Amino acid sequence: MSIQFNVSQLLKSDVGGIREYDFRMDEPLNLDDAIATGVTGSVKFTLTNFGILAAVRAHADVLLTCARCVEPFQSSMDVAFQEEYRPVIDIATGLPSQLPPSDTAFELSANHMLDLGEAVRQQILLGIEIIPLCTPECKGLCPTCGTNLNIKRCNCPPPESTSPFAALQGLLADVETR
Ligand SMILES: [Zn+2]
Ligand SMILES: [Zn+2]
Repeated sequence: MSIQFNVSQLLKSDVGGIREYDFRMDEPLNLDDAIATGVTGSVKFTLTNFGILAAVRAHADVLLTCARCVEPFQSSMDVAFQEEYRPVIDIATGLPSQLPPSDTAFELSANHMLDLGEAVRQQILLGIEIIPLCTPECKGLCPTCGTNLNIKRCNCPPPESTSPFAALQGLLADVETR
């Protein structure tokens, strides 16, 4: 996916120069276990001594799969972040940039295009909960018959608990009934 801006005019301006844009992505954005649609946002580019600082705000509707009941559900997400973009070509000379390399900055393309796509994708991924739940109260699936317990109850006996805490509770129950 790409959200591209031509920043050659900004690169030719003075340090501190600013450009602001809105963007929207029409195609869905494929994340590893989810799909984001309706990605919209705004970006403010500031020219620095090293390149371009992008301050981004974005909104996305993310289609996730509930970790308990395995049903798909829609979640809306807002992200705000800053990323640095460095030129690979010096716009004044047309030669490779003499700036020191950076491990954290993204690179502009050789023809001075800035692509926010990868940064937006990473930020949306970071915003997804590790264990997404359709609702905090989701009852999940019966481990025995697979019934979605949000929709109906099944007649399976409750699974036997093997946790040491449960054993302790059994012991306490014994003591109390004596
Ligand atoms: Zn669920
Ligand atoms: Zn069941």
